Amino acid sequence: MSVLIFIEHTEGQIKKASLEALTYGARLAEQTGDTAEGLVLGTPSDDIASLGKYGVKKIYQVQHDILHHFDSQVYTKLISHIAEETNAQTIIFSNNPAGKSLAPRVAVRLKAGLVAGAIALPETKDGFNVRKNVFSGKAFANVDVKTEKKVITLNVNSFTIAETGGTAEIVQYEATIDTPKIKVLNTTKTTSSIALTEAETVVSAGRGLKGPENWKMVEDLAQLLGAGLACSRPVADAHWRPHNEHVGQTGIAIAPNLYIAIGISGAIQHLAGVNRSKVIVVINKDPEAPFFKAADYGIVGDAFEVVPKMIEAVKKVKGLS
Ligand SMILES: Cc1cc2nc3c(=O)[nH]c(=O)nc-3n(C[C@H](O)[C@H](O)[C@H](O)COP(=O)(O)OP(=O)(O)OC[C@H]3O[C@@H](n4cnc5c(N)ncnc54)[C@H](O)[C@@H]3O)c2cc1C
Repeated sequence: MSVLIFIEHTEGQIKKASLEALTYGARLAEQTGDTAEGLVLGTPSDDIASLGKYGVKKIYQVQHDILHHFDSQVYTKLISHIAEETNAQTIIFSNNPAGKSLAPRVAVRLKAGLVAGAIALPETKDGFNVRKNVFSGKAFANVDVKTEKKVITLNVNSFTIAETGGTAEIVQYEATIDTPKIKVLNTTKTTSSIALTEAETVVSAGRGLKGPENWKMVEDLAQLLGAGLACSRPVADAHWRPHNEHVGQTGIAIAPNLYIAIGISGAIQHLAGVNRSKVIVVINKDPEAPFFKAADYGIVGDAFEVVPKMIEAVKKVKGLS
């Protein structure tokens, strides 16, 4: 029996979230005495055999032109078929847009119990008990999965990537692939170069910045830190920034290692999407701003004074000034 981990790639590169899922799946397999196996759909340019260093012994790969575009229905059928054929007991996805779309569909096909948003390895001594986030990270739930097969989506940035060494055997899998019911006519890339859900650091700003003309300093700071750019909802609603930067309950949920919030009050709906960040730095001129309660570090001050000073400091550390 095996633990099957779905490996995602974008623009040829394996996603960091998949490295977390691989480490998680390999540790689970070790715990249950199963084999950890990966599944790649399509043809990434990254060397997939080297993913063996995260603990997977074997990686199934299906290569076909149709798989170049993500299609939930086509992918679901293929993943479910391979999971059945390879006797996978547990199938692991990342809790990101692709994983959220695929996992429930695969779970239905396999008649498997689904845990969405796991944050820790299952307790398998007595049953199969998985800890997950609920209420936008405000509480935890321990879920007992009673079905023979299980599907788990792992919260992004909740499990440390670990390398154990080794190379995976690549097995080219021949499978019948359905003709998609939809056709992608074109795709338009968003302006942001770093995907928010993958970013290690995110610099975010809110209405405290007064207007879109003041974002240059936020962009400069983000660029210096190699960070993704985010914003609060009113900022996106007012078209100061594009909606793909909107984080929170109704926007993207992120969990970077470092979240820097500039001129954002810290409303509960905003926190719902960012409170899983490892370290939160808040810059706000109001010492009573609610965000300070959720912050690891807080700077009470005017963003228009603090941010340029931060930029100078980062430049100095990087030897750029
Ligand atoms: C159903 C629902 C869903 C929602 N979903 C989301 C969501 O997904 N994401 C989201 O962000 N919001 C969401 N909201 C909106 C949310 O309630 C808040 O209104 C919003 O987050 C506030 O945005 P803000 O902090 O940028 O603006 P404000 O609340 O106006 O706060 C601006 C902050 O900037 C500070 N400031 C002002 N000038 C400066 C300065 N010069 N230097 C430093 N600080 C300064 C102020 O002290 C203040 O704290 C939702 C609301 C509802 C009802």
